[in-house]
Parts: sequence; C-alpha cells; structure tokens
Amino acid sequence: MGRPPLLIYSPDFHTYRFGPEHPFNPLRIEVTVDLIRRCGLITPTQIVPPEACTREELRPVHSEALLDAIEGAGEGRLLPEQLRPFGLGDDDTPAFPGMGEATRLVAGATLQGARLIMEGKADHVFQIAGGLHHGHRNRASGFCVVNDAAVAISFLQRRYGIKVAYIDTDAHHGDGVQSIFYDDPTVLTISIHETGRYLFPGTGHVEERGRFDGYGFSINLPLEAYTEDDSFIDLYERAVAPLIEAFQPDLLITQNGCDAHYLDPLTHLALTTRSFEAVPRLAHRLAHTYCQGRWLALGGGGYDHWRVVPRAWSLLWAEMNECSPAEEIPKDWQMRWQSQSPVSLPSRMRDEPGEYPPIPRRAIIEDKNRVTLQRAMRDAVDLIRAHNVP
Ligand SMILES: [Zn+2]
Ligand SMILES: [Zn+2]
Repeated sequence: MGRPPLLIYSPDFHTYRFGPEHPFNPLRIEVTVDLIRRCGLITPTQIVPPEACTREELRPVHSEALLDAIEGAGEGRLLPEQLRPFGLGDDDTPAFPGMGEATRLVAGATLQGARLIMEGKADHVFQIAGGLHHGHRNRASGFCVVNDAAVAISFLQRRYGIKVAYIDTDAHHGDGVQSIFYDDPTVLTISIHETGRYLFPGTGHVEERGRFDGYGFSINLPLEAYTEDDSFIDLYERAVAPLIEAFQPDLLITQNGCDAHYLDPLTHLALTTRSFEAVPRLAHRLAHTYCQGRWLALGGGGYDHWRVVPRAWSLLWAEMNECSPAEEIPKDWQMRWQSQSPVSLPSRMRDEPGEYPPIPRRAIIEDKNRVTLQRAMRDAVDLIRAHNVP
C-alpha cells in the first residue's frame, strides 16, 4: 500500500443543510465518521478538514446566473419566482441561509481531494460530503446545488490535461455529470441506477451515449426495481471492468451513493451491504491497474442515515485502506447514537444472508437486466478504443 488514504471531513459539512425534515441530512456524515473512528479504521492524521473553493473555481462548470442565484438565495434576498428557474426553492432543493458558503465548502472539498491526489499527498481520498451528481450547469436539482464532481473533473482537465473516468453507483441516474461532459471524449461517465421509468430524475436510458466527439463516452445501465445483489454486482463488474480497460483513465472518481440498499426509503433496487463491498473492491483494483492508484471517492445519496449510510461508507473506507472491519459494530457507537435514532441501530457491519426476503420475479428481473447490459455495451468498448488510437 502507498500513502495512507485521506478522509476530508469536518463538522462544518453540517452547513450544507436543507432543514430538519429534509432527507439529505448532514447528521449522517457525523454518524458515519464516528463509526469509522470507533471501528479503529482511521488515524487522526488521515482526516483533512475541507477548504471552501472560490466562486471563480465554480465558473468553468456553472453559469454566472446560477451562481448569482445561489449566493442570493443564501442571503435571503431573492423572491421564489427569481429562484425557481434555477431549480432552487422547491421542496427538493430549497434555499437556506448561507447556501453560497455551504455549497463552496462541499465543492471545494472535492476540488481539494483532486488536488491532494495530483500533488501526491495520497493515492486515495474519500470526500464524504461530495457526490452532488444532479447539479447542472445552469440549474440546481435533486438536493444538489452545484456539481462538485464536475468542478473537480473540469479542474483536472484544465490543470493537468488528464482523462477521468467517473463511475456512479447511486440508485439515481448521475444526470448532471453526464450532461456537463456529454460532448467530451476525455471524460467517461458510467452510471448504474434504478430505471428512470418511475424514479427521479427520469433519465439514464441506454440510448444516452454522448454526442459529437463524446459519442460513446456516456454509459448508462438502468436496472429494474428489485434487482438485488447478484444481478447488480454481475452487471457492474461486466460493464465497468472492460470500459475502464478500454478508456485507460488517469484518475478514477466514484460516486458512492448508498441509496440502492433495501432499507432506503426512496428507491427499490434492494441491495445489501454485499454490493457496497463489491463496488469499491473493483474500483480500487482498477485505480491501481490503470490510474497509478489515483482514486477520488465521493459520497452521494443514502437516506437511511442510521442503518445504511454509516455501514456502507465504513465498508468503502475500509476497502480504501485495504482492511476489513470487524463483524460486530462497537457497542459504544450504538450507545452514542441510539437515543437519536427512530430505529434500532444495527449490531453487525454486514447484512446477514437471507435477511432480505427473496423476490418471486427474480429470474425475469435478471433477464431484463442482462438485455440492458447487452444494449449498453453494444460497440461501447470499440467506440472508446477507436478514440484512443493516436
Ligand atoms: Zn440517489
Ligand atoms: Zn489502494
């Protein structure tokens, strides 16, 4: 193992907060980092406090009008009708005091993660508050005010001229990152998500493959509801490994939203912790095989703050550190948080096999997913390779 991985975190991440009833609650970050600590998975020198970026640093990705609206919303000086065209002010992404600063802190932390890796301070960085993948160039959306991954990718392109592969396994389509780099063959975006037939944001069809020079560099695997671990892991591995091999990225960014878990209240892919170990395991191997280890992992969705997010992201962090957490969750973690949790906190790090009831339509769902994989992968590797030939 090279230099120890770094975790970007401080309680200041709490400032990115839409309100007490909103599902995107920063308390989940604190609960997760506390579990990582109490499991003995981190040393104090591995924690780096986030640094806010400047408005200037958001400009390559976001429009001036959106940045004005975000700052104005945070200062409370814009009317709802002035915010609405920018996706701000609805129930999903409402304005809150200090929105401008909070947003620059989250985006800045992702930029900082990219810098730490390129400056050789670490091979792997986990930016736990990042992964705001629904942010668009000119519009906030789906709890995402800006698009931190896109800001970091754009910086890496301009500063270092490198190729970035972005792998998104959040249950929702990574629409913002895809759309920002839709024309760009130096960024490969792969999104594996629950089909948008009934789920936000409704995009992410296999036919969305990029355009102009970027055709072939957007890959989408929209999976059926109740996909479960076996089919999910199988498709993920069979898509991601050959695509990354063909693309030969210089740096890997993963969006590790864990809202595809069966306990998550917003989605229906019905995964368990088995998937949340398999996903970073392959990403880790690919980062070392093709990217000299350069791997920036981001958080993302995850709306069971007590039973899912802390375990899924502890398992991710453990993988980054090449270690395996103990099966038992430390009792002092449970004691610390149980009084705040409306549900009984888990006592084990991994879901037990058979904990989740099998789905009768399993074979049909797996067949549909296989067809989706075939369609998504048709000519995909060849299109990428053709572009790589000098
Ligand atoms: Zn999500
Ligand atoms: Zn490693």
